[in-house]
Amino acid sequence: MYPADASGQSTAQGGGAAVAPLLVVLGVQKRFGGVQALGDLSLSVASGEVVGLIGPNGSGKSTSVNLIAGVFAPSAGSISLAGQDLRNLGVDARVRLGLARTFQTTTLFAEMTAFEQVMTACHTRFGDSVLSSMLRRAHSRQATARQAQRAEEALDFVGLGMRMRLLCTELSSAEQRLLMIATALATDPKVVMLDEPAAGMVAHERRVLGELIERIRARGIGVLVIEHHMGLIMEVCDRIVVLNFGRRIAEGTPAEVSRNPAVIEAYLGHAHAERGAAEHAR
Ligand code: ADP
Ligand code: MG
Repeated sequence: MYPADASGQSTAQGGGAAVAPLLVVLGVQKRFGGVQALGDLSLSVASGEVVGLIGPNGSGKSTSVNLIAGVFAPSAGSISLAGQDLRNLGVDARVRLGLARTFQTTTLFAEMTAFEQVMTACHTRFGDSVLSSMLRRAHSRQATARQAQRAEEALDFVGLGMRMRLLCTELSSAEQRLLMIATALATDPKVVMLDEPAAGMVAHERRVLGELIERIRARGIGVLVIEHHMGLIMEVCDRIVVLNFGRRIAEGTPAEVSRNPAVIEAYLGHAHAERGAAEHAR
């Protein structure tokens, strides 16, 4: 399904040798009016690497994903993919370069089937051939067939092969999250960003998701996982970057991060703040 990945995988597992990162974020900042949503973010993701981006609510995780995806421009800093500066590229151009993402909220077209949903992503990635196929007939019928095959493979890969003719709205919320991942994978990404993929999932669904992330990694794809909760992320990540109030407060392996006092403080402080707010609201 992902033909270019064999090389990525071999470099990712090249006996501990340094792996050239694919996605490089350097000193990125973002202001919204007076609000400094992101103070100074640097991170990198290599082929076949799973990097976590965690932090309390409002710490800047989704803002980071949106900046990397090209939804808005950073106020400062640089972002590159496989050595190419992304500065002047829009969302679709970044998708075509191999940068895919899912959204924190499910953003599916209610009136489409799961299969059609994934096909729309193939269209973004592989040019206008789906559309033009309707006009240009025979030649493009092949292109459409290839894209349909790609869509089916992505749906099979996430475990939705038997459900792809259902409307998006007929899928469970966990299945809708998997569908967003299939949609991202159908664009044949080098790096995929998952924004809170486990939101609303119960324990066994999170396990399925964890296994899926492992299989994505095994394809040589770099994964940036954003999560609010620690559980899943501790299991699947090679490295974790921790944000608090838009600033990177720690980076390390799951074990390093989970015993880092600044991280514990950020999470405990946040828990206290939430409890305080909840009590206040009562
Ligand atoms: P997280 O995903 O970690 O919960 P966000 O990245 O969504 O956090 O938000 C970080 C900060 O930036 C918050 O203070 C939020 O209110 C602010 N913010 C996010 N997006 C916007 C926006 N489009 N306009 C103004 N402020 C925003
Ligand atoms: Mg968020």
